[in-house]
Amino acid sequence: MKKLAILGSTGSIGQSTLKIVSLYPDRFDVELLAAAYNISLLSKQIKQFNPKIVAVMTEDGASQLRTLLKGYTCPEILIGESGYIDAASNEKADIVFLAMVGAAGLRPALAAIDAKKTIALANKETLVMAGDIVMSKAKENNVRIFPVDSEHSAIFQCLQGNRQKDFKKIFLTASGGPFRKKKLSEFGSITPEDALNHPNWSMGNKISIDSATLMNKALEIIEAVHLFDVSAESIEVLIHPQSIVHSMVGFKDGSVIAQMGIPDMKGAISYAMSLPERLDIGVEFPDFSTLKNLEFEKCDNEKFPSLNFAFEVCKKGGTLPAVMNAANEVAVEAFLDMKISFPAIYNIISKCLGKHNNIDKPDLSGIIEADRWARETALSLI
Ligand code: MG
Repeated sequence: MKKLAILGSTGSIGQSTLKIVSLYPDRFDVELLAAAYNISLLSKQIKQFNPKIVAVMTEDGASQLRTLLKGYTCPEILIGESGYIDAASNEKADIVFLAMVGAAGLRPALAAIDAKKTIALANKETLVMAGDIVMSKAKENNVRIFPVDSEHSAIFQCLQGNRQKDFKKIFLTASGGPFRKKKLSEFGSITPEDALNHPNWSMGNKISIDSATLMNKALEIIEAVHLFDVSAESIEVLIHPQSIVHSMVGFKDGSVIAQMGIPDMKGAISYAMSLPERLDIGVEFPDFSTLKNLEFEKCDNEKFPSLNFAFEVCKKGGTLPAVMNAANEVAVEAFLDMKISFPAIYNIISKCLGKHNNIDKPDLSGIIEADRWARETALSLI
């Protein structure tokens, strides 16, 4: 029986993870759940999966939860960031799913690594902010980090059975989001509703906006650099509107291995839960005969400057990736609140990167300070 802790259980990844657990109740036991704000869904998950411990963000959330669980055995409730950290490092779990959104994932991730848990990582911001620290700590503690991002799971799967030294290139695919064909001159009138309408994937709000701006791909470049210990220059982003090829790896001999499937996160999640075994999770194969073609094209960096940001911050390193991430989080929130336009997201990130005094080889406190600085700076620009 594998014992799971799922941090971010009410989000899209958390819910899909629990769906897989419910298909294989004899293999997986949910010991801990953490959810920041969706207390009513959390209470339903508690009733279904009986975790021993849960974590929520606020006292308010905790008391709401107690009310909703009247008549049930209430699990132990941990509160706040320290509650999340305790949940991530709790002795009851073997695998910790880090599926919360944004920079909030960093400290729990480090706590889970310190506690030598196997990590299923859906929170890419953790690696973007502090990839060097996270990966070296993981190495030190002999901790395995399994990617739960469709592209990185694909790359990870393509690398299985191959030698790192034969690796040459990553082809990181991107759907192109809802505005691939939109004219740059029309970007100013994009509404949050337009941007949330992703053509292929159903995801949470933040990542849907990140997909529309292609900032998601920018974050994924940095994520791949750390996860697979490769240079940013060895990564080529390809727009692949069908989202069937989740990414590809090229080797020295000119061979390219692709991982394919219909766009459903359950594939990447279940692989992290059970590898090398593959679980039957009821996901169909792509219907290749009706698909007809799989297209690949270069990204338009003038329309979508995100990839330029990623390559720039990878080159310069230091605290810049954390600044890019934090500025993006603040800008996305402001866009969702209709305080800024869609193109302003890029302007805010660009200005924050330009203004930042980069710190080389930062420690954790340096990264957290850069994150704080970028949020404050981005807010002042809004
Ligand atoms: Mg992805």
